[in-house]
Amino acid sequence: MTDNLRFACTGCGKCCTGHHVPLTLDEARQWAASGGQVVVLIEAFVADGPGMPEEQREHVLRRSHPVACGDTVARVSVTFAAFNPGRCRNLDDNDLCTIYDARPLVCRIYPVEINPHIPLRPENKDCPTEAWQQGPALIHGSQLADAGLAALVEASRQADRDDIAAKVAVCQALGMTTSALKGNGFTAYLPEMGAFATALAQVPEDNGARWTLHVQDEALTASLRGVGLSTTSETPVYYAFIGF
Ligand code: SF4
Ligand code: SF4
Repeated sequence: MTDNLRFACTGCGKCCTGHHVPLTLDEARQWAASGGQVVVLIEAFVADGPGMPEEQREHVLRRSHPVACGDTVARVSVTFAAFNPGRCRNLDDNDLCTIYDARPLVCRIYPVEINPHIPLRPENKDCPTEAWQQGPALIHGSQLADAGLAALVEASRQADRDDIAAKVAVCQALGMTTSALKGNGFTAYLPEMGAFATALAQVPEDNGARWTLHVQDEALTASLRGVGLSTTSETPVYYAFIGF
């Protein structure tokens, strides 16, 4: 993490525009109940195998869930996010959040990173230069200076771990069982929100669905099949493949 940074939000609203906001399971329920669209982003890897970033081993293992894929087991990470291709539906004409007191955890944490392996770099954030030139210490001695903010980051990480089995069960119940390989891309689904809300209201049992990895590169396809994984390179119909 960066050694020392100060920060004060200018209220410019840029982080509320064009960002799909990751949601906890409870937040996804609330988003669906209030008429919002959720986008589901999926990536997978094999423990100590293809797609696994060794330097993030503990972090990625704890926020993933084992699924059947071909002749072997893959681990799937699922993000439910508020679908915000433009301005967030909760941003008013004065760039103020209309659900400020009930806004999602990630909205409270921005611009801080949730992944402990990604350093906070102001140049990678939407905040204007002046936001980093004013206000109290955000990071001091490589640590978050605000204990309350640190607690929110930990709560977000813990929700990722607590929610993953239920998120995978919801994906399987709704047929969202094609993933991308971690590091190679994501698959993205826009579920029909009535069915999605019903599945979230009463999370189904794990139905043991078999998963497939969407891969476009021929050499990568061959190597993944070589370790027993099921792959497809067919043009997606019900999802998008967002390659890196
Ligand atoms: S919920 Fe509020 S804080 Fe979060 S992106 Fe939307 S407008 Fe911004
Ligand atoms: S982009 Fe940064 S400065 Fe602008 S509203 Fe979001 S957190 Fe505040």
